[in-house]
Amino acid sequence: MNVTRDLFNDVMVPNYNPSAVIPVKGLGSRLWDQAGTEYIDFAGGIAVNALGHCHPDLVNTLKTQGETLWHLSNVLTNEPALRLAKKLVDATFAEKVFFANSGAEANEAALKLARRFALEQYGAQKNQIIAFKQGFHGRTFFTVTVGGQPDYSDGFGPKPGNIDHIEFNDLAALEALISDKTCAVMMEPLQGEGGVVSPTKEFAVGVRALCDKHNALLIFDEVQTGVGRTGDLYAYMGLDVVPDILTSAKALGGGFPIGAMLTTTAIAAHLKVGTHGSTYGGNPLACAVAETVLDIINTPEVLSGVKQKEQLFRQGLEAINQKYNCFSEIRGKGLLIGAVLNEQFKGRARDFLVASANEQLMCLVAGASVIRFAPSLLIPDEDIQQGLVRFEHAVAKVVNG
Ligand SMILES: *Cc1c(COP(=O)(O)O)cnc(C)c1O
Repeated sequence: MNVTRDLFNDVMVPNYNPSAVIPVKGLGSRLWDQAGTEYIDFAGGIAVNALGHCHPDLVNTLKTQGETLWHLSNVLTNEPALRLAKKLVDATFAEKVFFANSGAEANEAALKLARRFALEQYGAQKNQIIAFKQGFHGRTFFTVTVGGQPDYSDGFGPKPGNIDHIEFNDLAALEALISDKTCAVMMEPLQGEGGVVSPTKEFAVGVRALCDKHNALLIFDEVQTGVGRTGDLYAYMGLDVVPDILTSAKALGGGFPIGAMLTTTAIAAHLKVGTHGSTYGGNPLACAVAETVLDIINTPEVLSGVKQKEQLFRQGLEAINQKYNCFSEIRGKGLLIGAVLNEQFKGRARDFLVASANEQLMCLVAGASVIRFAPSLLIPDEDIQQGLVRFEHAVAKVVNG
């Protein structure tokens, strides 16, 4: 069958508008399209392919597990799920894990757990959820409503109730809103989709203190920041703030679908038998792959490599900006980097993305005015250098019209 971009319009629901480029093969930080044109990948499947494409250890794990056992229902115990859970517990604050298949599902579990915990522990009046404008937590109806982008949550009828949004990094606003009726505060420890925005240290510490004061749970959505992306295994570790519930997905599977919700034993106890579930959650193929991902990333070499590679990106992007003066700021942490367009180029991030693709470079946007980079955590330094040369050509084309 001849697969073309036009076929997408014929057979797919029109909720996406994919690029005309059709990649058919990947290896490391390189991709090849149908015509054999090679691309450098600074996008990583939106912060998913943390070990690049077709990492040999992941391929090997998938093949081995694929010849052993694909699926069991949650009526049975499966070895890969428990091995992965044990490693996640050993590596983090958490004591208990729930597996899902995506970031949204992990967040859905976190929010349902927070509501259940508050109801059982404190009573029905404690159900307010506070989240942040521009935050992103997924596309199920509960998670998209907690996310801070009305464009995504409006137009589907009545929403889940008692969810409020305030500005990110505005501790005074949180202090004014939070009360003993607040059940949870949900935040990304570095807003990804919302424009690659870091919390200030005071903000992160202040949110934790206010949650403690009002017995509200602090939920960190680490779907994008987790599993080494920021140079720490989880971003909370670099903020010196420990959440009550943490969610992980994207990089956790390195390209294989999996999500996880991590929490403490005391909180987890409120998801009693039968209260929540997922058919594919804990799937042996997914858990085996994720275990290998975690084994590779949770090492000092890979995590410190992320911090070194961040410097290469920052230096390269600053140098491009010296020449073309199009960014107001290079921000983010580790290999989640945002180049913020200045006043002159505001709203034109897509133009830079398209120009980059024309120069055989894949990158991302985060909103209309931020170009986002989320490459493989193992991307070779040469690929960073070469990719930045291509990016400079793209910038030159946009800036010079
Ligand atoms: C991508 C993302 C999600 C949603 O994950 P899915 O796997 O698409 O459901 C949730 N939260 C954050 C912070 C994300 O970046």
